[in-house]
Amino acid sequence: MRILLSNDDGYFAPGLAALANALSAIATVVVVAPERDRSGASNSLTLDRPLTLREAHNGYFYVNGTPTDCVHLAVTGMLDALPDMVISGINHGANMGDDTVYSGTVAAATEGFLLGVPSIAVSLAGGGREHFDTAAQVTLELVQRLLRAPLQSPMLLNVNVPDLPMAELRGMRHTRLGRRHKAEPVIRTLNPRGQTVYWVGAAGPAQDASEGTDFHAIANGLVSVTPLQIDLTWYERLDELGGWLAR
Ligand code: MN
Repeated sequence: MRILLSNDDGYFAPGLAALANALSAIATVVVVAPERDRSGASNSLTLDRPLTLREAHNGYFYVNGTPTDCVHLAVTGMLDALPDMVISGINHGANMGDDTVYSGTVAAATEGFLLGVPSIAVSLAGGGREHFDTAAQVTLELVQRLLRAPLQSPMLLNVNVPDLPMAELRGMRHTRLGRRHKAEPVIRTLNPRGQTVYWVGAAGPAQDASEGTDFHAIANGLVSVTPLQIDLTWYERLDELGGWLAR
C-alpha cells in the first residue's frame, strides 16, 4: 500500500513525523508537505508562480506552496501511480466545526478526495500535552480498518483525536461538524516602524457542541470521525430561492 502524507504545519512538524513513523509499519509512505507553516491556507492553489519540490535529509519532500499544492503536485505529476490513500496531519490543534473551512490540514485531504483517493485529515485536539503518538496510533487503526473493510466508495474523513494518552481514550464516534461562535476580532497593534498592523484573532468558542458533534466527542474523550462532502449547495433552501427568483 502507498500512502501520500501531507500537512499544513510544514515538513518539519512533529505531528507529521509521528504519523509517517506509525504508518510506515504497514505502508510505503511518501511525504510531500509545505516548506513552512501554512495553517489556515484552506483549499488554495498557487497559480502565479511555479512550484519547486525539494527533498530533505530524512527523505521528506517539501514544496514552496500550500497544502493543496503539495497533494495536487504529488498526485497529478510526481507519483507514478495514484496513492491508495492521502492522509494529512497530524495537525497541531483541533479542526472542528467551522475550522474545516479554513484548515489547510483538511484542504490537503480534500484535494486527495477530489482526485479520487480515499483521504483522511487528522488533528490533535487541544490540551497542550501533545500526545501525537496517540493520534498516530488511532490513524494507523483507522487505515487498518479501511484495509480490512473498505468503505463503499472513497470517503473524506475529518478525524480529531483528544490530546490524551492512548489508555485514556474512550473510543471512536461518528460525528457531524459542530459550530463555533463568531471569531474573535482582529488585534490591532503597531509594528516597529509605528504603522498599524492587524493580527487575525482566535477562533470563537464552541456554539453548537451538542451531542453528536465533533466538539462533544472530544470533550468526552472520544475520537471524532466526520464524513465530509464538498457540495456546498444548501438543498433545503433551493425551493425558497426558486420561488423568490420567480416573483
Ligand atoms: Mn496547522
